[in-house]
Amino acid sequence: DADRLAEELERMDGASYGRYKSLSGDWDFGDFTLTVERVQADPFAPPSRIAVHLPADLVRMPEHAWRDPVRRRATADYLVRVAHRKLKGARLRIDAGGQQVLERASGRIAGGDLLLRLGIELPGHGRRIDGRAARREFCDRLPEMADALRWEALDTAEAERFADTVEDSAALRAALPGLGLVAFVADGSVLPRASGVSDRPMDGAAVPFASPEELRTTVSLPHAGEVSGMGVPEGVTLIVGGGFHGKSTLLHALERGVYDHVPGDGRELVATRADAVKIRAEEGRRVERTDVSAFVRNLPTGADTSRFRTANASGSTSQAANIAEALEAGSAALLVDEDTTATNLMIRDARMQELVHGDREPLTPFVDLVRPLHREHGVSTVLVMGGSGDYFDVADRVVMLDAYRPYDVTERARALAAQRTDAGFAPPAHRVVDPRSVDATARGRTRIKRRDMDVLTFGESEIDVRGLTQLVDPGQLIGVGLAMRLMVERGLLDGRRTLAEALDGLDRLLADDGDGGSGGAAVLGRGHSGDFAVPRRHEVAGALNRLRTLAVLDER
Ligand code: ADP
Ligand code: MG
Repeated sequence: DADRLAEELERMDGASYGRYKSLSGDWDFGDFTLTVERVQADPFAPPSRIAVHLPADLVRMPEHAWRDPVRRRATADYLVRVAHRKLKGARLRIDAGGQQVLERASGRIAGGDLLLRLGIELPGHGRRIDGRAARREFCDRLPEMADALRWEALDTAEAERFADTVEDSAALRAALPGLGLVAFVADGSVLPRASGVSDRPMDGAAVPFASPEELRTTVSLPHAGEVSGMGVPEGVTLIVGGGFHGKSTLLHALERGVYDHVPGDGRELVATRADAVKIRAEEGRRVERTDVSAFVRNLPTGADTSRFRTANASGSTSQAANIAEALEAGSAALLVDEDTTATNLMIRDARMQELVHGDREPLTPFVDLVRPLHREHGVSTVLVMGGSGDYFDVADRVVMLDAYRPYDVTERARALAAQRTDAGFAPPAHRVVDPRSVDATARGRTRIKRRDMDVLTFGESEIDVRGLTQLVDPGQLIGVGLAMRLMVERGLLDGRRTLAEALDGLDRLLADDGDGGSGGAAVLGRGHSGDFAVPRRHEVAGALNRLRTLAVLDER
């Protein structure tokens, strides 16, 4: 078939571009199979899509590289990165991701086979086929890539190190609840990034992380062995320090700690509980019948805040909704940074209480809720606050950053703390979503697209996802859209189940179910030939909550 394809492409040279359509289907290369899944109609359309199936007896990866689901994800990710390197300068493109190791559609391992999905801009001279260039891509570059992915051809030490790193990171994250921690930052970690627009580590100038003695914990990991670092305990942890001393950098690292990172990233052993959610103010977002009554009561409009809805939330109400929705989706760890919060939802000092009191102030500040949130519901908070001492009263631990070095200043902060009677916290209601309001189709066809990292197009809707700062990869946006569609198609959103129950069902569907390796990407990607990565339930919920057509049938 490979020779037949080569001849075919030579013959097509100079023909009209539409002839490329005839390539659709399977091509047996002997060693591997090429499937041309979708052919672009003209040179300016989105790239064509192909799948490459490399059988186990070609790749010959050892079982230990893929039997276990975590190593399987790591090995698949590694192989995609090798393919990406090998395709440098080619028209063939593979989605290899950035600093995080995510389950993604571009590379899957199933029973030792490797399944890759790639894009290619089919070459043309104007609207005529460039058959020679196409032949180079399919008949030279592609076999070269396949050859480079054989286990014997790989730098196997590097491949093993990659999987070991991911396995350690996942083991660390899994160990956190048992250790009573919400996060762990290993000594020597490099937290700052190269720049505000690069997720790569800062070069030589970075001050490596060094844990304060009082919070130093040692964990035992499968490959790295005994590792020391700072354990962030459950409860309320306050991060203080002067401006520019590294507070937000630490919190960002904790936000990203829900993901595994590639070797050399600097955050390989920064792990945060998998359900941790970054909370921020998000003025202008829509809110659909979210129960924000713990935070907001007696609005001047007289609105029922246990079913708060608005097409245009304020800073404080958007943040209240973000917290309520994070809890509804099952988060037990909130991450908050003063840089992106609504001050009036965070604190209210004595003088302001004098001036504006009683029914005039609809907001109960977070400082009065953060303790009962932990005491009554087991929800921990890690909070950056350099500008106010109010949280001294409620913090279990206070960590001060001084020139990027953390110090435990809990005792000193406690000496400065005042008594505070907190508010008690009634957990937000669980909503039942109307499945008819979640529609992935536009003019009868599924439409799930993205614009950069900002907007997810879902059917007729544009969802602004900029507030979901734990989306780290463009592929996750598509994955979120596919997950929303799946929840409707599979009847998880059925008009009876609560949103939380539907998300549980999603997690079960996407769980990698053993070495058959159907996995989340296979389940999500059915009928979708493009690139995507498997998202967390929290981002799926986040996008649903921001869908402007979302309707809620009921609360429980
Ligand atoms: P804060 O939130 O305390 O005001 P940031 O976390 O925004 O401070 O950090 C301020 C600057 O310091 C940023 O440019 C950041 O990249 C840099 N930085 C943070 N941590 C380190 C570190 N460990 N080593 C070197 N530079 C760092
Ligand atoms: Mg900051």
